[in-house]
Amino acid sequence: MANSKEERKRRDLTAAENYHLWVVSGGMCSFDGCKKKLIESTSGELTNVGIKAHIIGHAKSSARHEYMEKYGFTYETLENVENLMLMCYDHSKIIDDKKTRDQFPPDILFAMKEKHEKWVSSWSVDKKKSIALIHKRMGGPLFDIEYDSPAPYILLDAVEDQTVFDDFTPEGWEEGKKSNEILYQKFIEKIKEKEAKVGEIFPLSAIPLLIHLGSLLTDTVSYSIYQFDREKGFWVSENPGVNKDIVLTVKKDIKDCDDLAVLVSISGKVKMNSVKEVLGEEFDSLCVEVDDPDVKKVLYREDVINIQAKLKYEIEKLMQHQDYNKIHLFYAGPAGLAIEIGRGINPKMWSEVCLYEYNKRWTPKYQYALSI
Ligand SMILES: [Zn+2]
Repeated sequence: MANSKEERKRRDLTAAENYHLWVVSGGMCSFDGCKKKLIESTSGELTNVGIKAHIIGHAKSSARHEYMEKYGFTYETLENVENLMLMCYDHSKIIDDKKTRDQFPPDILFAMKEKHEKWVSSWSVDKKKSIALIHKRMGGPLFDIEYDSPAPYILLDAVEDQTVFDDFTPEGWEEGKKSNEILYQKFIEKIKEKEAKVGEIFPLSAIPLLIHLGSLLTDTVSYSIYQFDREKGFWVSENPGVNKDIVLTVKKDIKDCDDLAVLVSISGKVKMNSVKEVLGEEFDSLCVEVDDPDVKKVLYREDVINIQAKLKYEIEKLMQHQDYNKIHLFYAGPAGLAIEIGRGINPKMWSEVCLYEYNKRWTPKYQYALSI
């Protein structure tokens, strides 16, 4: 008969053991074929939803408890990571449910655990650890992070701002800047705490906020910036090759004015008339445009990097000739590129950059939002 005192004494995992289990599982459900990412957002709070499922159960009536002695465990060692699998809620229920538990004897689960952990360690010996930063302040919150391909990093934790942004007043934009700074601080603290090497950024928000967020991202870690594929409903980053359709045209109109307007037309066309509605007639202009702007353009990393580099090069070339008072950035393009453009802004070298929000119902259609 089991010693009831021993049975009750169920030790908590140490932080190191918890972390170990998370890392060897790649932060994913270990159940065969599931691989669900175990970070989720519930009611606006990101949480680690991984369940530490026992292979051999602790309580007398629990699943597979009768195998404890046969497999050389004691009540104490049942809490060791060798007997635990990280799983999603559904799978942890299936293996423990009275109706289904018989399908999962210890041998099956130990083999599943071993297979999953081997697969995770095969990704690469030094697979990098990451922290996600989710900035989705439009179109409702994101609950799961779905990638187009196997996760390239071990995602350890996440920070998020998923509160809807709809206050387009000067105060609203100021609040948006402050929230960005707070979010970025949280992110940097997590990076330090978990010794992560990569930031995975999931952006879908008003463009001025994304460019501002990009300008805050220092090179403490490397970044992987995802783009939301609206058609397929998941996040993409790397892709096979570049999009050959993307040809950039650069047009300049330089009259030695004090202000420079930069028009970036990628997912839609920024019309010169709309810019004049805001700035009047007296400004130099730089137009960077893809052939046939379309919302489906520029999903992939290579394209984003190329466009960002070209734009930065052209702006900095103009700044060598002219001390602009202000740079006015009018941008119609994807969220990931907005973050990258923000990262390219060097406040020490550049004049003040003014950012505008577009709404076709507004007059003027572009309205000043904030400056960097
Ligand atoms: Zn699962």
